[in-house]
Amino acid sequence: MGSLLITGIGSLVTNDPSLGNGPLGIVTDAAVVVSGEEVVWVGPASRAPAADDAYDAGGRAVIPGFVDSHAHLVFAGDRTAEFDARMSGLPYTAGGIRTTVAATRAASDAELSAGVARLMAEALRQGTTVMECKSGYGLTVEDEARSLRIAAAHTDEVTYLGAHVVPAEYTADAYVELVTGAMLDACAPYARWVDVFCERGAFDGDQARAVLESGVKRGLVPRIHANQLGHGPGVRLAVELGAASADHCTHLTDADVAALASGTTVATLLPGAEFSTRAPYPDARRLLDAGVTVALSTDCNPGSSFTTSMPFCVAVAVREMGMTPDEAVWSATLGGARALRRTDVGRITEGARADLVLLDAPSHVHLAYRPGVPLVSAVWRRGRQVV
Ligand SMILES: [Zn+2]
Repeated sequence: MGSLLITGIGSLVTNDPSLGNGPLGIVTDAAVVVSGEEVVWVGPASRAPAADDAYDAGGRAVIPGFVDSHAHLVFAGDRTAEFDARMSGLPYTAGGIRTTVAATRAASDAELSAGVARLMAEALRQGTTVMECKSGYGLTVEDEARSLRIAAAHTDEVTYLGAHVVPAEYTADAYVELVTGAMLDACAPYARWVDVFCERGAFDGDQARAVLESGVKRGLVPRIHANQLGHGPGVRLAVELGAASADHCTHLTDADVAALASGTTVATLLPGAEFSTRAPYPDARRLLDAGVTVALSTDCNPGSSFTTSMPFCVAVAVREMGMTPDEAVWSATLGGARALRRTDVGRITEGARADLVLLDAPSHVHLAYRPGVPLVSAVWRRGRQVV
């Protein structure tokens, strides 16, 4: 594969302030040269070097591919009726997960794999070039291990979430023993991350600590579902354990915010969940003003946030969570990369993976300014045009 010059870029978001204007490092009238899977040159179009092929962006905007750091894609079945009931007034509780567990256990490997592929293709069409994927709808040793095996065939970012909810056939303590014992043994070889749903109705602080610490002993890196439905110990536990990310962060005390600001744990906000459960949104402004690193992600799952659309999350974060368009686009790209501890994605700079999204718009601001409009016009992943 030869080199490719993408030129005529009206506005290029590099996410490298040394390359252009503002925190997004925006270069106007820009060009990018891609060779193999990497970006090899970024700068003004007038100074671009020659390449084997050329693509004219026609004055439109280019941004880094979205990095969706939180998704639950290995599942079967459908929860349309539950959503419909909720929109008619019933509350969201963690228990609905068990409906998906039953359907997932009954599905074949091929059905589950086809589901992951379908959702990842849907996300790619909306500009997502890296997508994390969790287990958590198997909840037996065999079903969790096969969920992770299937996820690992589709992405490098695989998360062991055996501790999603306590299955009906166990007490909480007995299930934690399984998750930190035989299930971990079977799952660790397929996963990079360990996660736990630390919430009333799921796992408490002590149980969450046991799950994460056992994963760390097996070489997994912790991340956590924390403070989604109410206040709890999850966020402070994440910071204490040096977790890569605390996800949801909807209900935070001042001490939680201070803890996040003092550590390296990214706060990953998932506005699709509040949208789909008609719940109050997390306060991104409060976190950003305190100096916390914020990521945006879809939380794609069949119960509480059945969207694969990062542009949708950007628009909601701007409209409802106090983020500027610049902050939301940064959080959906480089913020997601930080939450996955990746330095090769989320930016368009020399040496970065060539994951680029061409918008049918003059600026990245249109992602929030024109909500619900399919603005993604082309996507390159690893240097290859895939949309
Ligand atoms: Zn989740």
